[in-house]
Amino acid sequence: MNDRVEPEKIRCDACPVMCFIADGKIGACDRYANHGGDLVRLDPLTILHGTEQKLVPFLPDDDLEWNGDIVKGERTFVTAVGAGTTYPDYKPAPFIVSQEIDGVDMVTVVTEGIFSYCGVKIKIDTDRHIGNERDVVRVDGEPVGHVMTTEYGSKMLSLGGVDHLTGGSKKEGRVTCDALLRLCNVQAVELVIGENDHAVSVTVQAGQAPIIDGAPEKLMRVGCGSATIGMFAKQWRDHVDDVVVVDDHITGVLSEHQAGKMLDIPPTGIKIKGRRSTPGRYFQVAEPGTGWGGTDIQDPLSILGPYNPKVAWAGQRLLMVSTTGEQFAYYELDADLVPQRAEMPPAVLASTERIAENCEPSICSVLFMGGAGGSLRSGVTENPVRLTRSVKDALTHVSCGGAQTYVWPGGGITVMVDVLDMPAMSFGYVPTPALVAPVEFSMRLSDYAALGGHMDEVRKVADISGPSRKIPQASKGHDPMAPANYRWSDKTP
Ligand code: SF4
Repeated sequence: MNDRVEPEKIRCDACPVMCFIADGKIGACDRYANHGGDLVRLDPLTILHGTEQKLVPFLPDDDLEWNGDIVKGERTFVTAVGAGTTYPDYKPAPFIVSQEIDGVDMVTVVTEGIFSYCGVKIKIDTDRHIGNERDVVRVDGEPVGHVMTTEYGSKMLSLGGVDHLTGGSKKEGRVTCDALLRLCNVQAVELVIGENDHAVSVTVQAGQAPIIDGAPEKLMRVGCGSATIGMFAKQWRDHVDDVVVVDDHITGVLSEHQAGKMLDIPPTGIKIKGRRSTPGRYFQVAEPGTGWGGTDIQDPLSILGPYNPKVAWAGQRLLMVSTTGEQFAYYELDADLVPQRAEMPPAVLASTERIAENCEPSICSVLFMGGAGGSLRSGVTENPVRLTRSVKDALTHVSCGGAQTYVWPGGGITVMVDVLDMPAMSFGYVPTPALVAPVEFSMRLSDYAALGGHMDEVRKVADISGPSRKIPQASKGHDPMAPANYRWSDKTP
């Protein structure tokens, strides 16, 4: 006879996976555990304090009075980080917390949403060519997203989305979810963009410089080639006869540019290979690459044609420089009107340093983007469309981990948030696969009742107990409860 008693397992009902968890074990997402027969959320509830970063007693008994500051230093805000999820959708959110703010009864509905429809938008500040629009972005060989547009000094990527999470192979979904999780939790992820010998490796981490094919990027361009001519034309006029700012998009030529004309700089007989757009502005002088100004060239003279002998003169001084000032070369025309490398005068060298000085550090930005669906909206109200309308009417304010979000216009509640504004390790996952992200909906208690909220579940903030992590408000100091966030406030801009 076998006397061994199998440990009792309990069922976690916080997501569709419905894990059976033995005592002392954790569920598939590492977020829930069986602790002596009780299902517990492993990460503590995260509570924000005001920007003064003053340590205050957790949930003080006395009512705090709004003093008109933009952010109340001693106020607490219960975020959804560590709050837990509810499943299926009709159940109320784990925390529905009320507190009085400036004489107004407010309520915050707090939940960790499970997002199958989510992804990240990434902005990488670099001139270097890391891929063409629509190139596939891969992690561990799996497609996780694609290259979007090039913006002013930055390349944009879109990663994740429901098609990669659910529409491909099981491995594609798992790898996509893991990459999103790490990016959102401010960890580094190596992405491979493009195919075969065109593949470029880019390591992305929010708030850090991108690492492109093993080399950390340093500077974001001061502007396009044309803008650089405009900005520095006056500083060049007395020291050189012509300047070419090499740029993959808009290469600028001082003597032909409007800035040069205004400063009475005479024609130099220079010839640029490329498509002339307007005077002194050329497109497509070379192929995109990791060389000068985001082109594939290492020798800037390769974009010059022969000088016009009727205009050019021997001894003419030419500066060629990239849009970050990191690459530069100085030439003088010889008797055959061929540019020859020459020693750069100190004033010209100083101008290239001025360009670099005006460039900002190259940074990766990661914005989480997700749409609030069933469990999020039903966790707030029995009539979910009313929540959507309330958000659009600026009666309900949406935050993620207490951070400011951007709510897209149009239908639904589709939000974007900078992951650097959120508390550390705000994101989790479930193996469906989907990302778990904190979302809070704050509004007046009266508005909550009007939209059909779960009024029986409202608890006073002082009644919230259990383990918690208390951290200061994010450095940007967004206050989800500030009256200015709401249409009813006379402080609304
Ligand atoms: S994956 Fe996590 S949330 Fe989902 S049932 Fe398992 S333990 Fe619970």
